[in-house]
Amino acid sequence: MIESIDLDKCTGCGICDQVCPADVIHMERVEVADAVAGLHREKWLPAIKYQQHCVTCFNCELFCPEGIVDVHPSVKNRPRPW
Ligand code: SF4
Ligand code: SF4
Repeated sequence: MIESIDLDKCTGCGICDQVCPADVIHMERVEVADAVAGLHREKWLPAIKYQQHCVTCFNCELFCPEGIVDVHPSVKNRPRPW
């Protein structure tokens, strides 16, 4: 089952949402602080909406280009076919 997403490192690409067959992850528009300008701006980030629907397929963990999604048990260190 999906456990967490490290949102601090997330680029908001939305791939985890697109590859989830159980519609667990939803992209949401959130307001984030802009450290440089001291202003706020909007960003799209993934939210684990329906964790109980997760079928532990590992798609989100394997396809995330940043490697910041944790599904238990983790497959992060396994060799990937691509
Ligand atoms: S492990 Fe599969 S079902 Fe669960 S959130 Fe990730 S992509 Fe969706
Ligand atoms: S695939 Fe990774 S980087 Fe892209 S939105 Fe999902 S968690 Fe963020």
